[in-house]
Amino acid sequence: MDQTIPQQPTRNTNTVSFIPIGGIGEVTKNMYLYEYGNEILIVDCGIGFPDESMLGVDLLLPDISYLQATQKKIVGMVLTHGHEDHIGALPFILPQLPPMPSFCVSLTAALANEKLKEFQIKSTIQTVQFDGQERRLGSFSCMFVHVTHSVPDTANIIIKTPVGTFYHGSDFKIDITPADGVKTDYLRIAKAGEQGILALMSDCLGADRKGFSQSEDSLGENFERAILETQGKCIVTTYSSNISRLNQATQAAEKLNRKVCFVGRSVIRAKIIGQRMGYLQIKDGTEVPIEKIRKYRDDQLVLLVAGSQGQENSAMSRIASGEHTDISLTEKDTVVFSSDTIPGNERSVNALFDTIAKRGAKILYSDNSSEFHVSGHGSEGDLMLMMSLIKPRFMVPISGTYKHLMAYKALAQRVNDKNNNVYIVENGQELLFSANSVSYGKKIDLRTVYVDQVSGEEIEGFVLRDREQLAKEGIIILMVEVHAGTGQLVSAAEIVTRGFSPTEADALTQSARVEIQKVLAKNKGRVTNWVHIRKMIEEAVTKHIFSKLHRRPLILPVIIEV
Ligand SMILES: [Zn+2]
Repeated sequence: MDQTIPQQPTRNTNTVSFIPIGGIGEVTKNMYLYEYGNEILIVDCGIGFPDESMLGVDLLLPDISYLQATQKKIVGMVLTHGHEDHIGALPFILPQLPPMPSFCVSLTAALANEKLKEFQIKSTIQTVQFDGQERRLGSFSCMFVHVTHSVPDTANIIIKTPVGTFYHGSDFKIDITPADGVKTDYLRIAKAGEQGILALMSDCLGADRKGFSQSEDSLGENFERAILETQGKCIVTTYSSNISRLNQATQAAEKLNRKVCFVGRSVIRAKIIGQRMGYLQIKDGTEVPIEKIRKYRDDQLVLLVAGSQGQENSAMSRIASGEHTDISLTEKDTVVFSSDTIPGNERSVNALFDTIAKRGAKILYSDNSSEFHVSGHGSEGDLMLMMSLIKPRFMVPISGTYKHLMAYKALAQRVNDKNNNVYIVENGQELLFSANSVSYGKKIDLRTVYVDQVSGEEIEGFVLRDREQLAKEGIIILMVEVHAGTGQLVSAAEIVTRGFSPTEADALTQSARVEIQKVLAKNKGRVTNWVHIRKMIEEAVTKHIFSKLHRRPLILPVIIEV
């Protein structure tokens, strides 16, 4: 953090400050602070997803150095819903902060606690209900309000402070026929609006889409049609946390007498939690464990598979590239992508599409056929309806890129002619609210915090790379020029080593070049999946160096497409 920022533990009590430390100017990594006097309340604790330029990086975390340096008291944390970009950073961040009470609604708590358990972290998140009760955390009191989104038990949070009431409207849409049948609590929202809301912090991701967002229940029939038209296996991939979607695909499979198999650790975990909480209904005899799928013909199966974002090493990527031990793709198979590409993942998702297409399987996604995914975020109608119910004095769009923030501002002007009540901020920018005014406060410098994957199939299986090992084992950077048309090496790889003796380095450089050439020689034809190429090179060189020196340096392949 910027050490020049003065700490103000005895701040005046006429203002509440709002500081996003993630989630603005980007879609993911949601984490927001509300400060009053000497107290801080945290809302959400999500991860972000890296783009391809961040080599070897698997997750991004919100930078909490401000929270670690502050002398203020963190009075608690509330979580809005179970998506990774709202709870995924808990195992990394909770151990770094002093113990505090944390609350969220049932399913979110189940997902969050499962995650903490997996990382062997003792803290737990307490479960609350949508019961209209206010939970007191220092001078803040928080009420969870049910809204519809693409995961059950999603909450918006009404935060009462001595200065005024805030409506933290993170991810929502107004779905009149939600997949789980539980509607947005319009009454409570309208009542809060009646009682007076100082500021609405609102989801804005769909602010540039016309009309209202589509209901989740429109998808069930489309799943059925896709399964019916598939002669081989029907594979459905979605965000693992999208339990309602897993349920819809399961229902469709049951209707058409197909067995269902859950593939990939995160999907299996979501299934277990979904079943336990009653959001996923699977009839006896429908589910087949992966070891037994060979007993069934392809046209008797629907597979629900993790990895819709093209994550390296996810079950979907391994199936597509022919590396999965139990499942392979045929020309009769269909892969349904029931998800939107998260901004930043376009290249890996397109590479995945290409790898599947190369195997001759059919790919269905919302752009090329019926709807298999509807956004969980409100479009302009949903957002304007929320503004009208809440009637806030001030508005702050959150959870969107700048284009979304500006589109939200334009919507607000349509609803309310006063065009000076929408405040656009960036991560780290404090907004100071008094009972009837807003001003910009301090700006915290935020770093990008990366987490690297060591093993594991999807983003859940990560640990921070052991820096000591890095220092001990050294680093090797491989610059490899590969011809996109042939998949072959263009010139000898350039190799930079650190942490090796000159003799070792020389020998390594020579032999690693040979290994890289051997790996690429196996490639035939146009490269469709660069991530896969990078992984192959990394694995071959790692193996080679281990066999020669019994060392495991950090290996960073940089692939240059020519
Ligand atoms: Zn969400």
